[in-house]
Amino acid sequence: MADAFLKISGVSKHFGGFTALADVSLDIARGERFGLIGPNGSGKTTLINCVSGLLRNDTGSIVFAGEEVSRLPAYLRVRRGIARSFQIPRPFHTMSVLENLLVPAAYVGHLREADAQAEALEILRRIGLADKARSQANRLSQVELRKLELARAMATRPQLLISDEAMAGLSGAEVEEMLKILFSLNESGITIIMIEHIMQAVMRFSQRVVCLDAGRIICEGTPASIVQNPDVQKAYLGA
Ligand code: ADP
Ligand code: MG
Repeated sequence: MADAFLKISGVSKHFGGFTALADVSLDIARGERFGLIGPNGSGKTTLINCVSGLLRNDTGSIVFAGEEVSRLPAYLRVRRGIARSFQIPRPFHTMSVLENLLVPAAYVGHLREADAQAEALEILRRIGLADKARSQANRLSQVELRKLELARAMATRPQLLISDEAMAGLSGAEVEEMLKILFSLNESGITIIMIEHIMQAVMRFSQRVVCLDAGRIICEGTPASIVQNPDVQKAYLGA
């Protein structure tokens, strides 16, 4: 893909002698809904950490919107429009839900508090958390914490949103709610990478899916082709 929005080329990452990512190359188009799957420990979060800047890739390049970002510190990547949610929600527990959005907003330079507040409330409305704006984060339920995690990412005005297992541990109805939110964010123009273990959710959401196994891409294609791929079935059954 010559005009890829996110172009990951030949990315490797080692932890000591352990290879977490081996020569991963991946192109994502602007506006795409992209699924990243793979058994536990296959390198999904490590790849996202390399894209968002929490980790430095050992080899290869990561080009976002035409710019090499793989040596930029994380905060500059956030300012370029790359946001991610964390697998384990990390809110500021004693702050209100609204305040939890003002911190990342300030981090990317939206410093006028009145504007930032209005924008944060609008995000909470879109994500279905407006009625909790004044609640303390540590009083939220599991699904509300997952929504807050997405809302915090949205407060940085991302162009690319990476959701790392936002649906783990949720009920069927809650998974539907999260899917609806992610679809609507995508419809507003945000490119989305969904990492998810709930197959039915990631397959419904994604236009294209890649499967990692032991740090390598073993399969790429449409959701329908991925679920039938013998290598994917083996990776999951063998995990
Ligand atoms: P996934 O998200 O697909 O479950 P991860 O990317 O979290 O997998 O992990 C891939 C592998 O890299 C695992 O074996 C994990 O133990 C290892 N790993 C991840 N982060 C680190 C780290 N900071 N130090 C050492 N090993 C790590
Ligand atoms: Mg992970």
